[in-house]
Amino acid sequence: NAARTPLMAGNWKMNLNHLEAIGQVQKLAFGLNDKDFAAVEVAVLPPFTDLRSVQTLIDGDKLKIRYGAQDISAHDSGAYTGEISGPMLAKLKCTYVVVGHSERRQYHGESDETCNAKVKAAYRHGLTPILCVGEPESVREAGSHVAHTLAQVEGGLKDVTAEQAETLVIAYEPVWAIGTGKTCGADDAQEVCGAIRGKIAELYAQDVADKVRIQYGGSVKSGNVAGIMAQPDIDGALVGGASLDTDEYVKIVRFRD
Ligand code: PEP
Repeated sequence: NAARTPLMAGNWKMNLNHLEAIGQVQKLAFGLNDKDFAAVEVAVLPPFTDLRSVQTLIDGDKLKIRYGAQDISAHDSGAYTGEISGPMLAKLKCTYVVVGHSERRQYHGESDETCNAKVKAAYRHGLTPILCVGEPESVREAGSHVAHTLAQVEGGLKDVTAEQAETLVIAYEPVWAIGTGKTCGADDAQEVCGAIRGKIAELYAQDVADKVRIQYGGSVKSGNVAGIMAQPDIDGALVGGASLDTDEYVKIVRFRD
C-alpha cells in the first residue's frame, strides 16, 4: 500500500555486544543509500546494552537508520530489578520498542494483559510499539489462527486511544515460522494481516486501520520477501536471523529490486 511507508526492522535478539553492534550498524549504513531510505524505513532492534553505542553512532553521523528496544517495562521507575523503563528508552531516542515477542510470551510468561501494559508504557513516553502477535503451530493446525491472533490484538490494545493506535506497528509472526526456516505462504500471511486490519477498523475506525503498519515476521529472507511485500495488508517485515547478515538485510530492504 503506497500510503504506508514500509518498515523493515531487524530484531537482533540476544546477539552482538556493543562493539559488534557499532560494526553492524556501520556496515548497514555503508550498504544502504538515500534511495533506500526514501523508499523504506529501516530499523534495528539491538539488545539494551547496545543501545547507547548505537545511538551515539547514529546521532553523530546523522544516519537515517532508526532503532529501538526489544522489550520495555510496564512500569516507569521503581523497585523492578533488571527492568528497563520507557523513560530510559525515550532518553536514548529510541523510536520503536518490541512488545510481546513470542519468545517473551513463551519464556517469560507474558500475557496479553502484560503486553497491553507495555504498549501503554511505550505510548506514555512517545515510543512506537511493535506489538507482536501470532499463533503456535497447534492453533494453526486446528484452524483457529485468525481468531487466536485477533484476540491477541484486541487484548494488547485495551484502552489504547485511536490517536495512539494510528502510529502502531503490529507484527504478525506465526510462532512456528520464527527461526525455523518455515515461512508462512504469502497468501496465508495476507489472510491474517488483512484480518488484523479489519479488527483495527472494528476497534477504532477505517482511517485508523489504514494508517497502522502491519509487518510479517518469521524466517523472512531476501528470497521470500518480495512475495510477502506484494500483499496488500503487509507493510514490512520483522526480521530475526537474516538481519544479522548485513548483505542479506540490505537485500531485504531492497525487496523491490
Ligand atoms: C523474529 O525474531 O521476530 C523473527 C521473525 O525471527 P526469524 O526471522 O529468525 O524467523
